[in-house]
Amino acid sequence: MRLAVAKINLEALAHNLAQVKQFAPHAKVMAVLKANAYGHGLVKIAQHLNEADAFAVARIDEALALRAGGLTKPIVLLEGFFHKDDLAILLANNFQTVIHDENQLQALEQANLGASISCWLKINTGMHRLGIDPSQLDDFYKRLQTTPNAKNTLNLMTHFSCADDVNDTKTAEQIALFNSLVIGKNQSHCLANSAGIIGWSKGHGDWVRPGLMMYGVSPMLNSTGRKHNLKPVMNLSTKVIAIRDVDAKQCVGYGGRWQSNKATKLAVVAMGYGDGYPRHAKQGTPVIINNQRYGIVGSVSMDMISVDIGDNAKGVKVGDEVTIWGEALPVEEIAHCASTIAYELLCNITSRVSYEYSDSLT
Ligand SMILES: *Cc1c(COP(=O)(O)O)cnc(C)c1O
Repeated sequence: MRLAVAKINLEALAHNLAQVKQFAPHAKVMAVLKANAYGHGLVKIAQHLNEADAFAVARIDEALALRAGGLTKPIVLLEGFFHKDDLAILLANNFQTVIHDENQLQALEQANLGASISCWLKINTGMHRLGIDPSQLDDFYKRLQTTPNAKNTLNLMTHFSCADDVNDTKTAEQIALFNSLVIGKNQSHCLANSAGIIGWSKGHGDWVRPGLMMYGVSPMLNSTGRKHNLKPVMNLSTKVIAIRDVDAKQCVGYGGRWQSNKATKLAVVAMGYGDGYPRHAKQGTPVIINNQRYGIVGSVSMDMISVDIGDNAKGVKVGDEVTIWGEALPVEEIAHCASTIAYELLCNITSRVSYEYSDSLT
């Protein structure tokens, strides 16, 4: 019997990519596949994104894994390269690089490549993480147009810091600043992550960079994918491995952190932080067994969680399937119960979980 399984719904993935295009009909799509495609399986997901114009990853190893998997689309390295010796790898594998600081530009200028690399110049418009200062733009622009190591078609990009909140004025300021900086620089412009795509149509530019929304999950504050007509791609489930009776006042689990105020039944479920379930999920965080929501109780342990099933009128039994998150139980809700974000939960799925890919959930 298999316990924890992440069922990956490829039909939902295609639906979500089509949804990206509904939101941003005039933009090309750079599908963001970093961190094992947000825990969904890098190569498998990439193989089912034929309609994307390019892929984007954060690490050179992720890009190499895509090429090793036979994928031939353009691949953009979102943080660029990390050492001058990486440039030969970029060239050999047709990777495109972000240029976000002086060190990278110098390394590119000084390299003896004999061919040119496609570059995305990243401008800091308010995130203050990566990116050149607006005052450096003209200098970088000129140097990138001059060096034979960069392709003439230079792309310009920036990244939003607060786009998940449609009431925050920061994003409009970032868009306005970016637009003022790139006037007369007639190149491709790329600004929006998922939140920018959903919440800020003025920031769509020529290319968009969807990550989370492709996986059917909402990046917006207090929202779920369903509100934006997205379908969760991952459905994480496992099995009940034991049913036990507890009396009133018996302490359950490590540290005895929970006790029932009346006699009840618990379902012990094969899912813990060793599978990627958040250890800080609060008491009452929901799971679904036989179409019924129940709440977890006690500490999350490495391999198990306990679920209060009350008097068990629904007849929950060993071997029953337990939905941890997915179509019927938004991962955004579980993230909220664990004081974290859905991004983290998806990335944290461990290798103990088996993956199953299918075109539908049935
Ligand atoms: C991760 C990342 C994205 C995708 O962000 P989502 O919120 O998942 O859509 C886009 N751009 C950059 C630079 C990123 O690092």
